[in-house]
Amino acid sequence: MRSVDVLIVGGGPAGSSAARLLTRAGADVLLLDRETFPRLKLCAGWITPEVVRELDMDLDAYPHRLVTFPRLRVHYGKLSIPVPCVQHSIRRFEFDAWLLERSGVQVEQHNVREILADGDGFIVDGAYRCRYLIGAGGTRCPVYRNLFKELNPRAHELQIVTLEHEIEYRWEDPDCHLWFCDEGLPGYSWYVPKENGWLNVGIGGFAERIKNAGQDIKTHWAHFAGKLDAGLTRGAHYDPSGYSYFLRGRVDVVRRDNAFITGDAAGLASRDLGEGIGPAIRSGMRAAQAILDGVPYRLDDVTGMSVSSIARSMLTRAARPLGPYGRRRAGDGGAAHGLRHDNQ
Ligand SMILES: Cc1cc2nc3c(=O)[nH]c(=O)nc-3n(C[C@H](O)[C@H](O)[C@H](O)COP(=O)(O)OP(=O)(O)OC[C@H]3O[C@@H](n4cnc5c(N)ncnc54)[C@H](O)[C@@H]3O)c2cc1C
Repeated sequence: MRSVDVLIVGGGPAGSSAARLLTRAGADVLLLDRETFPRLKLCAGWITPEVVRELDMDLDAYPHRLVTFPRLRVHYGKLSIPVPCVQHSIRRFEFDAWLLERSGVQVEQHNVREILADGDGFIVDGAYRCRYLIGAGGTRCPVYRNLFKELNPRAHELQIVTLEHEIEYRWEDPDCHLWFCDEGLPGYSWYVPKENGWLNVGIGGFAERIKNAGQDIKTHWAHFAGKLDAGLTRGAHYDPSGYSYFLRGRVDVVRRDNAFITGDAAGLASRDLGEGIGPAIRSGMRAAQAILDGVPYRLDDVTGMSVSSIARSMLTRAARPLGPYGRRRAGDGGAAHGLRHDNQ
């Protein structure tokens, strides 16, 4: 049996952020993921300036696709409002693999199933023993399922159901578009351009409200696809996939003995826009700090709302305007973002 101090289950943003801090502090840590990276993750790939800061990311050195949006186009009914701000898009396929590699953690491919308490630690699938266990396995995290489900039952009214597709597409409109409550969808739909001919489109809404209204997410998708075909993405073919996750509700127990849950495993996506990458990163870091420094594992400073972050970036934008398509103006002192990196 392999024995380590810290075992992390899941190599998404939560797991890799915890891993980075632990590895840098010299901890004996192993990360298990059922997939090999790079792996597909259904996600629009919108990240905020807070995420960039938290990850200590040098945008100029990021080796993959990244677009900086100088505004969001928000649609509500017949209203279409440009919201000047600073937001970014990445491809999760690239971003997650980059984060995991950057963390320097040792990774093994393993689909975790059974977790048993063993003294002050845990035994995982009879093959791994650890003192500390970090659950970062997303919505279906086995650490949540084995140790936290009964203490922290998920609130069905906060379950989000999604359909999305990321395709190679030579988009012409470089703005990020968000349509709220279109055709009665209790949620929103999105069009998120990625650099270098990729595009992510999708819809997400409250599962229970869709069901109670006698609606179906697929009907909403058909409406959305028709709308895209009539305008922004004529002739594009979509074959969307679905995924479900939970917005932040009451999270009573996030640590049980030496086990922690982070990110989607704890249901931390923001209540207003379903932003989950930032909360996953911060909660992963807080779990690592609790292990390293013996401080309590608390989620008080893990954001529950995204609108405040967008508002802060509006102020940044006002202070340092971007050129069209997210390119910084020449003489701004930094390299351009948006339509810049060519590597596939
Ligand atoms: C369609 C859609 C669009 C979204 N768009 C955005 C967006 O634009 N911006 C944003 O901030 N958030 C968005 N989110 C939310 C965001 O994707 C998640 O909140 C975020 O990925 C959570 O990160 P995580 O590290 O907790 O989990 P994940 O990223 O889900 O990573 C979990 C990892 O655990 C692994 N794993 C799972 N089970 C096991 C197991 N049994 N054994 C071993 N490994 C396992 C998985 O393979 C995976 O690599 C979106 C979500 C969806 C569904």
